[in-house]
Amino acid sequence: MNIIMPETIIEYKPHRKYTTHRNFYNLSKGDIEDVLWKNSVVHPDTGCYLWLGRIDKDGYGFVKIGGKDLFAHRLSAFLFLGLKLKSKILTLHKILCPHKNCWRPEHLYLGNQSNNQYDMQESMAARGMIRVKNKWVSTDTI
Ligand SMILES: [Zn+2]
Repeated sequence: MNIIMPETIIEYKPHRKYTTHRNFYNLSKGDIEDVLWKNSVVHPDTGCYLWLGRIDKDGYGFVKIGGKDLFAHRLSAFLFLGLKLKSKILTLHKILCPHKNCWRPEHLYLGNQSNNQYDMQESMAARGMIRVKNKWVSTDTI
C-alpha cells in the first residue's frame, strides 16, 4: 500500500457516522455523495478526491454501510458514471490518476477485462472484490 497524502493534512479522523448498521437502501444518492465528501479531501496538485477513510491492503478506499464493504471509487462510478453496483463491469483509474483511493469521477472509467491494464489483485479490487483471510469476497452483493 503506497498512498501519497497531501502535505497539508496533519491528521484526519475518519468519520464513522455511516460505518455501522445503516441500511444502504435507505441512503439517497445525495447521502452517498455526502459520505464520500465527509471522508475525503481534494489533492492540491492532482485534483484527486482522496478517500481518507478505511483503505484496503491494495490501497483502495472503502466504507462499510449496512454491513457491506463498498469501494469509494465504485460508489463514485455508481453516482456519476452510471455503474450498476452489481455489475461485473470494472471501475478503473485513468493513467493520469496516481491514487487508488481517488474517487473523482473524471479520473475513473468503466471497463472490462480486455482493457484491464492491471494485475490480478488490482483487477479483483476494481471489480469490487476484497481479500478477507486469503479469500476473495465479493462486495457486489448489494
Ligand atoms: Zn485522481
